Amino acid sequence: MIRYLLIEEERFEDAPFVGALVCAISCPMNCKNCFNKHLKGLEVKKASAEEIVDTIKRNPFHEGMILGGLEWSEQPDEMLDLAREAVSRDLKVMIYTGLTIEQFLHKVPDIRDLRGDIYLKYGAYHHDLPGYRSRYGVQLASRNQKILQYRSREEEYWFRAQ
Ligand code: SF4
Repeated sequence: MIRYLLIEEERFEDAPFVGALVCAISCPMNCKNCFNKHLKGLEVKKASAEEIVDTIKRNPFHEGMILGGLEWSEQPDEMLDLAREAVSRDLKVMIYTGLTIEQFLHKVPDIRDLRGDIYLKYGAYHHDLPGYRSRYGVQLASRNQKILQYRSREEEYWFRAQ
């Protein structure tokens, strides 16, 4: 089962596609001025990966799934199950992490075996570094953060940062 806090439909700004945001259950980062404080403490829900993807696919505007809100690398197996289910049903996937790429791949090494249209936003939030709009059209919260479009291990994995 996947534990999550909420699903927010029709997000236009968080990914290079219209997607549903599925929020992880916790974040250990303690960034100053955390902009997701309001999520912490919400009731935890549970559903299978199939049920969550069913919910996302029911909305014809959805091209993909956004894994964000809090930190999915704290739930690596659940994150992989969800991402696998989504790409197997032709959804794009955007993953948000406050970790560096190296830290993220260390925690979720099997992400490299996934095939599909997958993006990773990485980097911690620094309130004193002004944000910017990436070339994918996504507004990033601080200047050090970047987005990578992902390819599987067989296709020479990560490439194209911004
Ligand atoms: S990574 Fe995001 S959710 Fe976590 S503490 Fe920092 S701003 Fe808040």
